[in-house]
Amino acid sequence: MRRLRRLLAAEGLDGLIVSDLTNIRYLCGYTGSNGLMLITRKAAWFYTDFRYKEVIKTQVRGCRKQVRTRDLYAEFPKEHAAGLKRLGIEKHHLTVGRFQLIRRQLKSIKLVPTRNLVLELRRKKEPDEIKLIARAQRITDRVFQDLLTFIKPGVREKDLAAEITYRFGQHGENAFSPIVASGPNGGCPHAEPSGRKFRKGDAITFDIGCRFQGYCSDMTRTVFLGKPDPDLGQVYDIVLAAQKRGLKLIKPDVFCAKVDRAARDLIKNAGYGPYFGHSLGHGVGLVVHETPVLHSRSEHTLEINDVVTVEPGIYLPGLGGVRIEDMVLVTRDGCRNFTKSPKQLIQI
Ligand code: ZN
Ligand code: ZN
Repeated sequence: MRRLRRLLAAEGLDGLIVSDLTNIRYLCGYTGSNGLMLITRKAAWFYTDFRYKEVIKTQVRGCRKQVRTRDLYAEFPKEHAAGLKRLGIEKHHLTVGRFQLIRRQLKSIKLVPTRNLVLELRRKKEPDEIKLIARAQRITDRVFQDLLTFIKPGVREKDLAAEITYRFGQHGENAFSPIVASGPNGGCPHAEPSGRKFRKGDAITFDIGCRFQGYCSDMTRTVFLGKPDPDLGQVYDIVLAAQKRGLKLIKPDVFCAKVDRAARDLIKNAGYGPYFGHSLGHGVGLVVHETPVLHSRSEHTLEINDVVTVEPGIYLPGLGGVRIEDMVLVTRDGCRNFTKSPKQLIQI
């Protein structure tokens, strides 16, 4: 809240209406489905409805709380905004309809569409958050190890996806719908698990992540069922080399675009440039895709306590694909890799 108020002052705002529930969770701990915050230079308010009356007594911290009987937007708590001149709204989140409702009630206040200020604060992970992210990844590593025993010819992608969901559910939940892509399906970076049965010679890509107490992990591994196709075996080595090159560059003050370029150039020089069409990585936290983005046009530089992924891939239409993704914490002189699953080629 202190850091947010500094940002508000720098933006010339008297306050901010926070509607994004992930940002609300970050600021006050609330995990329910209906909530709104009003943060001014002097006060912080949280609003919800009757359903969460009991929960918020212990869950919500660091602000005043009010249970409202009417819709939070249709009857905005304008009494708490009295005297404000410039009030920020989250333009990435607030719908046009809700904006219109608020504007009608706050006629004397200038509502300023504001970039995602809270997301900028979320970038710098606190020690407690780092612990939860590490824990989410430990669960992911363990689940991945268990999965290897399920991979056999005849097992369907959907079966493995269900197994992943069940196992994450024992500790937390899926951070996102798991990707299981086998054989030619691996040629699509974000393939959805299908009814396809595994066959000898398949490359199988798993992109999985667990959410533990709100915080996400994100990991990808490609394993082979039987002997890999020679082309894909070679592709594996190239992707792994590109990933290691990217990881090596990670430290504070390095341009994200530079890390992306280093890994991308290696793939390009090996002749597979057109088959690596997505960015190298992204921040991870309360949601699986946060800032910064490791992209060729990214203007971000890495900062200490960023959590980012490094995930190059090569996707060959009709044949299959390989992606290797680790999640790391940017430290003073490099990075700490949360991901402990092996990266040498696994043949089952
Ligand atoms: Zn992933
Ligand atoms: Zn990712």
